[in-house]
Amino acid sequence: MFSSDLYTRKTFLKNMSVGILTATSLPLNAGNDLEDSTEKSSPGDVPEEKLPRSPLNHSTEQEEPAFYPAPRNPAKRVGYAIVGLGHLALTDVMPAFANSKYSKPVALVSGDAHKAKVVAEQYGINPMNIYDYNTFDRIADNKEIEAVYIILPNSMHHEFTIRAAKAGKHVLCEKPMANSAKECEEMIDACKKANRKLMIAYRIQYEPNNALIRDWVQQKKYGNVKLMELFNGQNIGDPSQWRLKKSLAGGGSLPDVGIYCLNTARYLLGEEPDAVSGFIHTTPGDIRFKEVEESVMFQLHFPSGVIANCGTTYGAHMTRRYRLFADAGAWFGMDPAFSYKGIRIELSQSIGKIESKQYPAIEEKDQFALEIDHFSECVRNDKKPFTPGEEGLQDQRIIDAIYQAAKEGKVVSLKKYDGKDVFRGEVPKDDK
Ligand code: NAD
Repeated sequence: MFSSDLYTRKTFLKNMSVGILTATSLPLNAGNDLEDSTEKSSPGDVPEEKLPRSPLNHSTEQEEPAFYPAPRNPAKRVGYAIVGLGHLALTDVMPAFANSKYSKPVALVSGDAHKAKVVAEQYGINPMNIYDYNTFDRIADNKEIEAVYIILPNSMHHEFTIRAAKAGKHVLCEKPMANSAKECEEMIDACKKANRKLMIAYRIQYEPNNALIRDWVQQKKYGNVKLMELFNGQNIGDPSQWRLKKSLAGGGSLPDVGIYCLNTARYLLGEEPDAVSGFIHTTPGDIRFKEVEESVMFQLHFPSGVIANCGTTYGAHMTRRYRLFADAGAWFGMDPAFSYKGIRIELSQSIGKIESKQYPAIEEKDQFALEIDHFSECVRNDKKPFTPGEEGLQDQRIIDAIYQAAKEGKVVSLKKYDGKDVFRGEVPKDDK
């Protein structure tokens, strides 16, 4: 996975030689002919895999990863309706389409007509393709829209996923999937019934540095991981925001940011926890926490014996990190781990008597573009997404068990699953 980062000198020379050989065995203007012929053809005449992927490689064989990104013709990209134009949608998701290769925004759904008009103008979206929450169902009549990306408060994911599926659209839905396991099940059923795909937007599972750590864990690069420590928390502001209203958010720090610890632990190990325990504390009298919890510490026990100690808060300074403790002379992790940018791998390894700290780096990529493009490829090629609805449902079941464990002061057992990645689909490819 993510081997395209490794564009080695050997690969470069090989591609160069293929390019030179091809050039010498063709008329001098062969490269131009190829470009011209593709331009003159109607879309679809030339199979995509036959098109040149790199100026250095005119071979039609694609043994090696492409040197340059190969964006798909806009006409062939999956068209998305963005549902909800809040902070995440405007500051991260809409700009990410510029880094995507297989996806394009074609419609907007918002309760604020003026904002939607301005955003449509900014991104060149047809103003006829603006909907509000009442007219949403009319997306059924718009063929440009193949998928929706739901970026609304948590409690609204359920309703809009079901309405989108009924309108015949594929659904990419933000985390947490919903406010209860029952709602998650209904969302999965609605998409199955409509024969539409459903993916939960767990961006960490599409990010290359996290994928590298997962490889280290699963290939036992530093031996067996025995213990894990994951923390994601922040000091939340405005007491009137929806994140602090139980009916809209479903809970407090746990479903909003604590879910990253839970989901990432499951992702790195590829296992499902079989038992959980937990503690919750909320500062009495803090006006922010009238309805939802402030801090949660919870433990996940995995069938392999790994124990993950996880923490989350809405009441302390921001920290987003994890660390894995292995038994062959190293611990490793990321700090920060769950941020959109600036994530950094940490590796502490004993070399003889010296404990050496390293920061191995691989290129950072736009997590949102990777995630959206993965879903588009699943839509195009009829594949199950890596993080389907079942992945979100499993997190919700574990969240419910953590609340129960904290409330009852006991360890709560979970359904046991054999095998790895039991809920996940197609492994994301990194061809950016
Ligand atoms: P936000 O408050 O900035 O945006 C929410 C949008 O929903 C706004 O446009 C708002 O007008 C609209 N809305 C419609 N009905 C509403 C109602 N009844 N109450 C409040 N707002 C209403 O929130 P956000 O930070 O963009 O989060 C949206 C979703 O994205 C959440 O599910 C959140 O968990 C998720 N999220 C994910 C990430 C990530 O990294 N994957 C990061 C942030 C948020």
